[in-house]
Amino acid sequence: MSTIEVRGLSKSFRGLRAVVDVTFAVPDGAIAGLIGPNGAGKSTLFALVTGFLAPDAGEVLFRGERITGWTPERIGRAGIARAFQIARPFPGLSVRENVRIGALFGRAGPRDVDRVTDDALEMLGIGELAHRPAQGLTVGQLRRLEVARALAARPLLLLADEPCAGLNPAETDAMMAALGRIRDRGMTIWLVEHDMRAVMATCDRILVIAAGRAIAAGAPAEVAVNPEVVTAYLGDADV
Ligand code: ADP
Ligand code: MG
Repeated sequence: MSTIEVRGLSKSFRGLRAVVDVTFAVPDGAIAGLIGPNGAGKSTLFALVTGFLAPDAGEVLFRGERITGWTPERIGRAGIARAFQIARPFPGLSVRENVRIGALFGRAGPRDVDRVTDDALEMLGIGELAHRPAQGLTVGQLRRLEVARALAARPLLLLADEPCAGLNPAETDAMMAALGRIRDRGMTIWLVEHDMRAVMATCDRILVIAAGRAIAAGAPAEVAVNPEVVTAYLGDADV
């Protein structure tokens, strides 16, 4: 069974074909990767899945149910949360208060909000920052806050848009390890990530897109030997 499936999804912006006939599925409990150069359509694809944008063609199925045309609020309540590429926390609120907002608007019951908040802080390793204001956090801390906020919603599917952007290799490894632990607890994850090494090491399935089109999809070992992927991303590098 697939937690999320997109079928023939397309979206244009005034003639610019941002997503073109993309089909892909993320199996229950998997961690999937979405990779492609800047402007490939990755964030647009996530916006289509989360209902922030309506597709021109195609459909989105969440746990087998067609959710195309649902509002973002309804999709969020159904169990899909997105950690945004550009985090916009409430700067004056503490790290914990920001994460708590994710829990309040999520699927946890009111009695569980504090427990879920503290669990998300711990999973992302930012418990010690709980009482610091969000303003003044480093890039790495902001990324962890953003993923914790999405995680606190207790989604069934966590979409993470470039959670490792701007992170150094050690921070990237820590973020990927945290996402692996979240997956190990049963959550399904689909993440955008540029670092091929990190994606190959962590993901069960990978979708590669370029100029809006899927150029490869499958297990890391299959994708790594795909000629188009090798040409576009890997060069002669060892993976
Ligand atoms: P990625 O996340 O892979 O870097 P995006 O999905 O953000 O790529 O963008 C794909 C293409 O669609 C880009 O050419 C981008 O400029 C364009 N685009 C994205 N969002 C909009 C929008 N709201 N209006 C017009 N063009 C957009
Ligand atoms: Mg993007």
